[in-house]
Amino acid sequence: MSDLLSVFLRLLLLFKLVAPVTFRHHRYDDLVRTLYKVRNQCPDVTRVYSIGRSVRGRQLYVLEFSDYPGTHEPLEPEFKYVGNMHGNEVLGRELLLQLAEFLCEEFRNQNPRILRLIHDTRIHILPSMNPDGYEVAAAQGPYMSGYLVGRNNANGVDLNRNFPDLNTYFYYNEKYGGPNHHLPLPDNWKSQVEPETRAVIQWIRSFNFVLSANLHGGAVVANYPYDKSLEHRSRSSHHSSNSPTPDDKLFQKLAKVYSYAHGWMYQGWNCGDYFPDGITNGASWYSLSKGMQDFNYLHTNCFEITLELSCNKFPRQEELQREWLGNREALIQFLEQVHQGIKGMVLDENYNNLTGAVISVSGINHDVTPGEQGDYFRLLLPGTYTVTATAPGFDPQTVSVTVGPAEPTLVNFYLKKSKAQVYPMRRTPSGEQAARVKVLSRPSRKKDPGMKKPHRGPA
Ligand SMILES: [Zn+2]
Repeated sequence: MSDLLSVFLRLLLLFKLVAPVTFRHHRYDDLVRTLYKVRNQCPDVTRVYSIGRSVRGRQLYVLEFSDYPGTHEPLEPEFKYVGNMHGNEVLGRELLLQLAEFLCEEFRNQNPRILRLIHDTRIHILPSMNPDGYEVAAAQGPYMSGYLVGRNNANGVDLNRNFPDLNTYFYYNEKYGGPNHHLPLPDNWKSQVEPETRAVIQWIRSFNFVLSANLHGGAVVANYPYDKSLEHRSRSSHHSSNSPTPDDKLFQKLAKVYSYAHGWMYQGWNCGDYFPDGITNGASWYSLSKGMQDFNYLHTNCFEITLELSCNKFPRQEELQREWLGNREALIQFLEQVHQGIKGMVLDENYNNLTGAVISVSGINHDVTPGEQGDYFRLLLPGTYTVTATAPGFDPQTVSVTVGPAEPTLVNFYLKKSKAQVYPMRRTPSGEQAARVKVLSRPSRKKDPGMKKPHRGPA
């Protein structure tokens, strides 16, 4: 090595050691540089990819952490964080960049907790879903930013009111019968949504995400679905009533994990609002239609909550370090929640993939499906459950499972072809063969009671 190069490298090292940790707002170019910097510092466990472009052509970059970046490993859950969906709510964007740097640094430091997390989880971080809106808000800066400047995308659309409305469909099915999961998209959905929304929908359809959080600002509370109340009317969107999902208790717990690990969210009094335990049902606070968290739950296997993280939507640079320290443990603990409940494989007797397999839990009117490789994940609170795997043409299999508080319980299903499928075309003189055809039965379900509780206005 030449002397000059050696001196240069020493200087670089020295600079790195003495340079203080900087907390700053990142404009688009700076954000991209930061993602690639992390990628270069932790090349073995990271990958940068884009899910599409904004209206103005900015890339929607995702940073992935995994011991096999770019590959889904069976039984290893997929997790995502989404920030800056509202362009003027900027704290989530900065926290996710801090989180990316933290994960990389602690991985390099051999921090056992972070090593394990990256080894057992595939983590996807989208720091900005609305880079165009951000640039508009950032051009104004934190000091004089209007409350709504930069909230929408470049077409003036609020992206958290832009997802296909599947709630109406689900409420109908709940009452009259019909699918309780993976509700279909309208045929012309692509022409009805914005480019950023389309990119996110295609993203969440192509990965089997299990758990997610969407980071916002303007209040301090962990908000869980549904966001849209049963009685929602667009002209009186302030009308609010508690609208629990069939997984209400689980969602409450997920929200509490965040609020109690957060520096002050759990205290409940923040920004002039009061939320017991620092959590709220979305519709109970204020009802909104076409939001992202309801869409995740009704169209995919993913359980998403919405985190409101700061009273001020565009905090001053000097506040960022305090915010990071207040959120760091919560961001990690929430991520760790992806490892709970049950998971396993759903295959046929010869370990082949099944088409149309479904996992149902008795008493919870929300099924999940396995991913492309036959592995499924079903988040559940500790308890004992009756779980059934079904697939068209196969005999259903039902087991009783006890779920503990920590690790997920492994439950594999190897379904047998139903007799009708084994000898499908044989004609028999008697009706014996037909009598042996097993009808796929599904467990009966109980609808969760919907409590009414009035609440307060929007943020
Ligand atoms: Zn928001």
